[in-house]
Amino acid sequence: MFCYQCEQSAKGGCQVVGVCGKNEDVAGLQDQLVAKLKAIAAKAVQNKTVDATLDKFLVTGLFTTVTNVNFDPENLQGLLKIADSFPQVSGSLPGVKANTTVSEDVISLREILTYGLKGLAAYADHAAILGKEDPTIYAFIREALAALLDDSKTVGELVALNLKCGEVNIRTMEILNQAHVEHYGHPVPTKVQLGVKKGPAILISGHDLLDLENLLKQTEGKGITIYTHGEMLPAHGYPGLKKYAHLYANYGGAWQDQQKEFAEFPGAILMTTNCIQKPKESYIKNIFTTGLVAFPGVTHVKNGSFAQVIQRAIELGGFPENKPAKEILVGFGHNAVLSVADKVIDAVKSGAIKHFYLIGGCDGAKSGRNYYTEFAEQAPKDTVLLTLACGKFRFNKLEFGDIGGIPRLLDVGQCNDAYSAVQIAVALAGAFNCGVNDLPLSIILSWYEQKAVVVLLSLFSLGIKNIRLGPTLPAFVTQNVLKVLVDNFNIMPIKTAAEDIAATYKK
Ligand code: SF4
Ligand code: SF4
Repeated sequence: MFCYQCEQSAKGGCQVVGVCGKNEDVAGLQDQLVAKLKAIAAKAVQNKTVDATLDKFLVTGLFTTVTNVNFDPENLQGLLKIADSFPQVSGSLPGVKANTTVSEDVISLREILTYGLKGLAAYADHAAILGKEDPTIYAFIREALAALLDDSKTVGELVALNLKCGEVNIRTMEILNQAHVEHYGHPVPTKVQLGVKKGPAILISGHDLLDLENLLKQTEGKGITIYTHGEMLPAHGYPGLKKYAHLYANYGGAWQDQQKEFAEFPGAILMTTNCIQKPKESYIKNIFTTGLVAFPGVTHVKNGSFAQVIQRAIELGGFPENKPAKEILVGFGHNAVLSVADKVIDAVKSGAIKHFYLIGGCDGAKSGRNYYTEFAEQAPKDTVLLTLACGKFRFNKLEFGDIGGIPRLLDVGQCNDAYSAVQIAVALAGAFNCGVNDLPLSIILSWYEQKAVVVLLSLFSLGIKNIRLGPTLPAFVTQNVLKVLVDNFNIMPIKTAAEDIAATYKK
């Protein structure tokens, strides 16, 4: 196997077994699936085929191969069988370095595009589940997958396709945002309990709000308490979800702590999307997957029907006593922030707010990620911290205070709510009559998997410069490709929190 698609990849790429736990068998099946997706898309482009089933399959296949989604060989073999039911061009070989006749830079740009497409497909899948689709998104996925087999594509053309991927992802995050708002209303600032309640409990993780809604409906009046985990935390801010009184609290931290936290959780656990880790024996009977997530030995539940999860929660009994704890604030999507825009703008004009930091992205296990905690802690008191995605668990339980009633830490939401953060930045730029790059705003990103790759491409497609990226730079970016990114977008690796604050903050 050879895989270097995520941040935790072993030096130069995982070759024997994935740091994520993906074995050679699963990695091989995923490579075959990606190769077939390219061949299916190339044939569809050749034949000008527009077919909803084919598009859905491309999206499903791409999302399935995102890090920490599907570790189940049987499930992957099933997808390979379905792949063979679609017409394909010949010559699509599996694996990152299948084509040895192209340059390292072309391989690098192809892989960035592949990972960008995986992230884009994940968001397209989330939106489609809520009934929102856009044919232009599917058309781009077909075109881009087909381009990955085209040896005539130049470095320049591949750079352009990567930027287009970012642009199409903005549209995808936009329809996902619309889907969330239409179903559940605009997020509103909401206090979220971090304690626990006596009685049966279900912990729900991942990004899929429809699964949460179905679970809330199916558990209503049954004496079961629902806890959110990881990227489900922002759900507490949506009126259509917070109205359920048994959506009680947020439990635990980011995905990489799940083996310890899930083992301690005395209830059932439902993983709706990434990021799942190999379940420990101690809780493998308590954890369930749904949607595209799969792990051998873990019960997979389908069709939004969570009877087995509920049954397990009742059997386990849950928490023995009430243990309330502190509360944290969520729900600062663009609608909530822009409703107090006048206050924010006045605070900037008066000098009460000197700078905004968007500290967002994925969390992970590496020790270098303490940088993000240190950054949030050391940011001067006259700065506002916007955050999104699961990297926030490094600092979202700390006290940051407020500036004239505006909380210093504003939780914008999930990773896809990067769309909301962009809306906030664009509105601020409009108010100050400048470009986003001229705002007193610095973007400090942490990346882990392929959703983060496509969010980064989206920021590039908007022309956003001076992004600081960590904890390490992607292994799949060659020096020449990095130079293109530095020359055009002045992207830079993180240094220390103190150095990066000194470089961005002006008194
Ligand atoms: S997904 Fe990440 S950790 Fe897993 S095999 Fe690939 S690079 Fe390694
Ligand atoms: S933000 Fe990224 S790392 Fe975090 S749970 Fe979501 S997919 Fe996983």
